[in-house]
Amino acid sequence: MKYKYCPKCDILRPRTFMMDDRCEGCRDDAVTIEVPRSIYGKLMYVTSGVAIALIVLFLAYRDYGLGFASFLSGVDETLFIALVFATILLAFVFSFLDMGRTGREARRIVEERKGRYHD
Ligand SMILES: [Zn+2]
Repeated sequence: MKYKYCPKCDILRPRTFMMDDRCEGCRDDAVTIEVPRSIYGKLMYVTSGVAIALIVLFLAYRDYGLGFASFLSGVDETLFIALVFATILLAFVFSFLDMGRTGREARRIVEERKGRYHD
């Protein structure tokens, strides 16, 4: 997870791949801070993957009648869709928790470096 920090404006924001190395506010050079994803970030990837797999399985069974998904014939459709939505919701919750974690960590790194500048 990458963050961008502008020492001049003291603004820290998540950095997307479309952004350059400059601050959106003052167009001055910004510092890139890389924070490893938390356990929630990993869980987000896992739950997103599961959600996608469930959707693919569901479409394979319902729309294409593919053999490998035939085990779904015994599963209640409403229950299955509810499960898909629950999984997607869970991925959002994990994503939110991960953003909170990595955001705080990026802020901590910024504060730590600030302390170093003052020495
Ligand atoms: Zn700035």
